[in-house]
Amino acid sequence: MTANAANAANTANTANTANTALPQMRRCGECTLCCSLLPVVPLNKKAGERCINQRGLGCKVHEKAGFPTECRLWNCRWLVDRTTTKLLRPNLSHYVIDIVPDFVTAVDKGHEVKVPVIQVWIDPRYPEAHKDPNLREWLRQHEPECLMLVRYDAFDARCLIPPHMSDTGDWEEIGGPRMKSMDGTHSAEEIAAVLTNTGALK
Ligand code: SF4
Ligand code: SF4
Repeated sequence: MTANAANAANTANTANTANTALPQMRRCGECTLCCSLLPVVPLNKKAGERCINQRGLGCKVHEKAGFPTECRLWNCRWLVDRTTTKLLRPNLSHYVIDIVPDFVTAVDKGHEVKVPVIQVWIDPRYPEAHKDPNLREWLRQHEPECLMLVRYDAFDARCLIPPHMSDTGDWEEIGGPRMKSMDGTHSAEEIAAVLTNTGALK
């Protein structure tokens, strides 16, 4: 399978902070990584930019005027997903697993197919963080229908195909060392359709 680089990175309209209304097994603690790595559309904050509302280990607009709904609703997978018990907190692992899935358009034997992806936002100071064997094993076990879309910022990404889906039987990387791609965003309806069609919707 080969991925179409032009369609490989799709900026999700996600935002970042802990949703304190949800039952949580973990706490953000000293981590603020999502506030730097993820885009927040209402703030015109691009991926990879530190949010102007960050203050130390907190958010100066938390639950106040100007607090984006996206931030109120969003949590990373480490925080709320019990399947991630073997993973380190994002400020220690240097990656943030997006709670919002997406898809890429790939070319398989000459045919375009839409493949669901789990987006993993990487701290650019640790560009190899996606090589964490626990992360790769987590994807294989818990998201077997998905590729990993490694994101560095709004445009810079690479797509990783796990062994059970690749032609080589090993992890396969698409797009070169730092794939450049600009594909805009996918709607929730488009993403839901791909997840349903591929059996990735749980
Ligand atoms: S990345 Fe996860 S653990 Fe870190 S601040 Fe964001 S929600 Fe909390
Ligand atoms: S508004 Fe607050 S929670 Fe949202 S990204 Fe900025 S600092 Fe983080």
